[in-house]
Amino acid sequence: MKYVIFIPDGSSDLPIDELDGKTPLQVAETPNIDKLAQNGFGGFTNNVPDGYTPGSDVANMSIFGYNPADYYTGRGPLEAGSVGIDTKPTDVIFRCNTITEKDDTMEDFNAGHITSEEAAVLMDALNKHFTEKYPGFKGKFYAGISYRHLFVYSCDDEDDADILANLKTVPPHDISGENLTEYTTWDDDLAVKMRDIMYEAQEVLKDHEVNRARISEGKAPANMVWLWGQGLTPALPDFKETYGLTGAVITGVDLLKGIGIFANLDVIDVPGATGFFDTDYKAKGEYGIDALKTHDVLFIHIEAPDEAGHAQLIDEKVKAIERIDEFIVGPIIDSLAGQDFKAAILPDHPTPISLGTHTRDDVPLVVYASDKTGDECTSFDEEGVKTGSIEKQEGYKLLSRMINEF
Ligand SMILES: [Zn+2]
Repeated sequence: MKYVIFIPDGSSDLPIDELDGKTPLQVAETPNIDKLAQNGFGGFTNNVPDGYTPGSDVANMSIFGYNPADYYTGRGPLEAGSVGIDTKPTDVIFRCNTITEKDDTMEDFNAGHITSEEAAVLMDALNKHFTEKYPGFKGKFYAGISYRHLFVYSCDDEDDADILANLKTVPPHDISGENLTEYTTWDDDLAVKMRDIMYEAQEVLKDHEVNRARISEGKAPANMVWLWGQGLTPALPDFKETYGLTGAVITGVDLLKGIGIFANLDVIDVPGATGFFDTDYKAKGEYGIDALKTHDVLFIHIEAPDEAGHAQLIDEKVKAIERIDEFIVGPIIDSLAGQDFKAAILPDHPTPISLGTHTRDDVPLVVYASDKTGDECTSFDEEGVKTGSIEKQEGYKLLSRMINEF
């Protein structure tokens, strides 16, 4: 038996006036997905446990078969995993933005989209400063893409690591223009140390030649770092041991690659998979077909509909769904013809055009099994699955339900 789970990120939506009260999933021409819906089972699911923000990391962890309430430790750790940073159980992994600070406020959470090359020089300068000034310094900066970096702090023991991991930190993009000191009013010694690191980094960065050059070119300087999204290395049980099946992931998004790596799934890189509208849909479909020749389970995730939702572009969202149908769902289902297989299609969370951001609402779900007659559901969208027979349960149960119930 083969299993394929299609994840058009953020594709579900609310009714849109410009679409005569319909949603992008309803108006998109999707003959292949329609076939799965008409011969499969429909219903709703929810991938975001209570108390969690509806991020793609949390929601996709559910779809990959792991309950975020048990295993989600933060965004930083997943990104560290995706770029191969090896961490110990007492390490706390922070996301580290290079930001522009002005008059003690968050002037720009991405420092004018600083280039990766410039940021790498700044991260080097910080590592050099801290290790020279404080021999045995326990922190290390890791340069990433543009303004998105990581900071790993190696704690002495698990108690310290727990304190840091549970520290209340704030995503920098949520506090644009706000006073920074209000978000670092920590009193624990170790927490104060993190605040000191941010402000000491500011002393190193503000007059750095990279920033002097940026200022002279009229660009925003990366004159401070902001630590957030931290957590411990997640202890995801091995996918194969958990489900007795081999699995692969195809995605253009680092956070999801990180989940795959920690679950010991094979993460397959596809040339041209950008995580944006311009992604190479056809290449993803082809790599998906190959992955299913050598794996029992394939998770194939496409970020484009979510990006269109954030950008509030109706046409781009509809187009992304249609391309997923034509170049990914169609070819992969065709390649499985004559074999026993089960397929599911669902978004991780809605990203409604009208809101431009994620919601925690239920998402439509279709499950198709090649050896079963489905229910009466007509199409894969917010209305079409309403007549389906799938009972709503927690999202992380989907895979075991596919294995055992369909
Ligand atoms: Zn998402």
